[in-house]
Amino acid sequence: MGCAGDVFAGAAGSTNLCAMTPSKPPPDAEARRAAAPVVAYDIRKLPVADPAFYDRARADMSKVGETIVPPRQARAFDIPAGHLFRVVSVEGPQVGDLNLWNAANLAERFFSGKTRALHATHLSTGDRLWSALPYLRPMATITHDTLDWYGFDADGAGVHDVIGTRCDPYTNRLLTGADYHHCCHSNLTRTLAARQGLSFDQAEPHVHDVMNVFMCTGFSRDEHRYFMKASPVRPGDFIEFFAEIDLIGALSACPGGDCGASHSSDEAPCHPLKVEVYRPRAEALRDWRPPPVSPYSSGA
Ligand SMILES: [Zn+2]
Repeated sequence: MGCAGDVFAGAAGSTNLCAMTPSKPPPDAEARRAAAPVVAYDIRKLPVADPAFYDRARADMSKVGETIVPPRQARAFDIPAGHLFRVVSVEGPQVGDLNLWNAANLAERFFSGKTRALHATHLSTGDRLWSALPYLRPMATITHDTLDWYGFDADGAGVHDVIGTRCDPYTNRLLTGADYHHCCHSNLTRTLAARQGLSFDQAEPHVHDVMNVFMCTGFSRDEHRYFMKASPVRPGDFIEFFAEIDLIGALSACPGGDCGASHSSDEAPCHPLKVEVYRPRAEALRDWRPPPVSPYSSGA
C-alpha cells in the first residue's frame, strides 16, 4: 500500500519510500477492514433543488454574453444571480479549470472539498457548487451536461472532477525543476488580478481548487493514485450552470489540452473554450430568491 516502487525508485538519488519500515497488521486486521461503509452526508437532507424550476428557467432564455478563453490562458466573466452560463467545447477536446467567487465578496468562493463530500468526486446535472465556510450555500446548480452519459468507465474515471486541484507552477517546479508560466493557477491569478485591479500577489490567495470541467480523471484501483485520461469532450458539448448568487467566474483553458498525456507545458495540443451567459424570462424567476448564507454563527 502506497509503495509504488516504479515511481519512487525511478530516478537516481530519489527517495525510495518503500524502504521505510511498514507497520505490522494486527491479528484482527481483516475484521477491522470489514466495517460497513456509510455515506458520510445524507444529501436527501439538503435544501431541495426543484428540477421544474430549473427546467422553466432554461426553457426560454436569451444569450446576453459570450467570452472566448484562448488556449493556455484564462478569462473572467460576470454572471448575475438568476442567469445561466455554459462552458462550451469549440474546435477540439479541451479541459477547463473553473473558479467561482461571490461578486461582492471574494472570500465567499467555491468549496471544492465540501462539494465533493456532499455530492461526488465528479459532478453532473443536479449537483451544486457550494461556497466556502462560513457561508456554505449553493453558488451554482448544474442544469445540463451533454457528457452525463459518460458515468464512470472501466478504469473508474468520470468527467468534471472536483478531486484534482489545478496545475500550478510550484508543483511543476518541484517535480521537473522547470518554470512554466501558463499553468491554470497562474492563468487564473492573472485573470482575477486584471478583473479586480489587484496585484498578482494580492490576487493569488483568492485562487482556489477548481472544478475541472470536461476533465476525465479517477483514482487507480491498486494504489488510489490520481490519474487523468483523454477527455471524451467534443466540439458542441457543454455543461450549463444556474447562478444562485451574483458570480465572478474565471476559466482557464488548461495547457494540458484534453489532459490525455501531459500538462504544465506547451506540448499538448490546446483549443479555446467558450463561455456563454443566458438570461431567462422574468416570469420564470418570479418567486425565486438567491439562497441565504448559512445561519450558523461560530461565535454564538
Ligand atoms: Zn491546468
